[in-house]
Amino acid sequence: QRKNCDKVFIGSIDQGTTSTRFLIFDNDGVLVTSHQLEFDQIYPQPGWIEHDPIDLIKSVNKCMIEAVRKFEMMGYEASAIKTIGVTNQRETVLVWDKNTGKALYNALVWCDTRTAPTVKKLRTKEGSHKVAHMCGLPLATYFAGVKLRWLIENVSEVRDAIKEERAMFGTVDSWILYNLTGGKDGGVHVTDISNASRTMFVNLETQAWDDWLLEFFEVPRHVLPKIVSSSEHYGDMASGPLQGVPIQGCLGDQQAAMVGQKCFSQGQAKCTYGTGAFLLFNTGESHVTSKNGLLSTILYKLGPDAPVIYALEGSVAVAGSAVKWLQNNIGLIKSEKDIGKLAAQVDDTGGVYFVTALSGLFAPYWRDDARGTIVGLTNFTNKRHIARATLEAVCFSTRAIIDAMRNDALVPLQILKVDGGLSNADTAMQIQSDVLGIEVERPAMRETTALGAAFAAGLAAGIWKSTDELTKLTVNAHDTFEPKIDEKKRNKKYKEWEAAVERSYDWTRV
Ligand code: ADP
Repeated sequence: QRKNCDKVFIGSIDQGTTSTRFLIFDNDGVLVTSHQLEFDQIYPQPGWIEHDPIDLIKSVNKCMIEAVRKFEMMGYEASAIKTIGVTNQRETVLVWDKNTGKALYNALVWCDTRTAPTVKKLRTKEGSHKVAHMCGLPLATYFAGVKLRWLIENVSEVRDAIKEERAMFGTVDSWILYNLTGGKDGGVHVTDISNASRTMFVNLETQAWDDWLLEFFEVPRHVLPKIVSSSEHYGDMASGPLQGVPIQGCLGDQQAAMVGQKCFSQGQAKCTYGTGAFLLFNTGESHVTSKNGLLSTILYKLGPDAPVIYALEGSVAVAGSAVKWLQNNIGLIKSEKDIGKLAAQVDDTGGVYFVTALSGLFAPYWRDDARGTIVGLTNFTNKRHIARATLEAVCFSTRAIIDAMRNDALVPLQILKVDGGLSNADTAMQIQSDVLGIEVERPAMRETTALGAAFAAGLAAGIWKSTDELTKLTVNAHDTFEPKIDEKKRNKKYKEWEAAVERSYDWTRV
C-alpha cells in the first residue's frame, strides 16, 4: 500500500569522521528515516589518521540503499525524494586520477598531525605572515592545503599524476560529488565555497582560488575543483535507488550545522560536539580577522547569486574522540553512553584536569607540540573523576574559544546552541553551562548537520523559498541547561585548567 500524500522529501548525505549517514527529511524539516554505518579508522603511525576512499563511497551508497528501503517500507515512493544535499567531514583530503577515477592515496583525515614538519617549513617561507590574513586560517596541520602539500612531497604517485595533469584534488565533498555523479564517466569536479574556504587556497576577499596562495603552497591550479555555491544543481545521481535525483546542496559539516540550527543572523552561534568540537559565530557579510587565534571562514553562499556569509570559528581537535579513546584504548567505559553516567557519579573531578591534547591543541592555542596530559592525580582519584575530567576538558576548550571571541570584541553570547554526538550526554551539557555561565540549548532533533544540507538542497530545488521560511518551519523542541555554580568557583576552575594546559606544551623539553 503506497502512501498518497502531497509531501515531498529531501535526502541528506552526512559523511562524518567516524560514520556515514543518509537521512530523509520531509518538507517540514521533520526527520522521516535514516541509516548510519561506522567505518574503519586507519592509524598507520602515531598521529597519522587515514580513511579508505573506497570505504567512504561504499558507506554512502549502502546508507542510501538502506534508508530508501526503510522509507519504502514505511509506504512511501522513492520518487518522492526530489533532491539530495551533501555535508562532510571538512579538511580531509584526497587526490585521485581522472583517467581511472581511483584515489592515489588514502584520505588524510583532518585531525592527522603528520604535517607538523610541513607546517614548520612553510612558516619559515617568505610571505608566510601574509597567509592567515588572506585566507583567514593560521598555518597549522589541520587544513586541507597543508595536507595536499604533504602528499605532493611524500607520495610519488601523486607527484607523477600532477606532472602528467591527470590528478584531481578534493576534500570529501568533492570526492562524493564526483563519485555519485558518475566518477571517471562524467563525474563533476566541484567543491562548495564553505569547503573551499578550509583549504588555505581561497582569498576571503575575492572568494576564489588565489594565485599568490597557490604559489606559496606550490600547488598548480589544474588539480583544483571548480568552486560552486552551497545551494545549486551540481549534477544528478548516476546510479542506485535514487538514480536521476539532482544533488543541490553542499556544505562542510560545521557550516551545515549552523544552517540546520538556523543561525542565519549575525551574532548567532552554535557548538557541535562530534569527534572534535566546533563553535561557529555568524559575522554576516563581512569577515572579522581574529587577534585571538580564531579562524575566519566562509559560512555559506546559498545560491549562485546569493551573498557570501562569513563566520568566526573556534575548533577543538578532540571532543568525542576523547570519549572513544577512553573506550577503545583505555577500556574505561564499555559504551560512549557510559561516560555521562560515570561522570555524574561524582560532583567534581577531585582536583584532576585532563588536557585532551591527543592531536595537539587547536583554537585558540594552536600548539601542535601539546600532548594529552592528566594532572592532579591522588590516591583518591578513580575512574569517575577521569570520566568527568574528560567531559570538563571539552567544556573548558569551548570556554577558551568563547573568551577569545569576546576579546575579538564580538557581542557576548547569551545562549549557546549545541548539537553533535557528545551533546547527548546531559552531564556534559550541564558542565558546559556551568563553565560558561550562560544557557545551553540543545534541540530535540540533533541531526542538525544533515538538516542543514537538506535545507541547502531544498532551497535550490524550490521546496523552500528563503531562509526566513526555514526559520518559521517547525517548532523546534529543545532542552535547556542553566548554570548551577557561582562565578567564583567557575573562574577558579578555569584558572586551574589554564595551568594544566601550560603543562601540556612541549613537555619533553629538558
Ligand atoms: P562525527 O560527525 O565527527 O563522526 P558525531 O556527531 O557522530 O561525530 O559524534 C560522535 C562522537 O560523539 C563520538 O566521538 C562519540 O564518542 C561521541 N558520543 C556519541 N554519543 C555519546 C554519548 N551519549 N555520550 C558521550 N559521547 C558520545
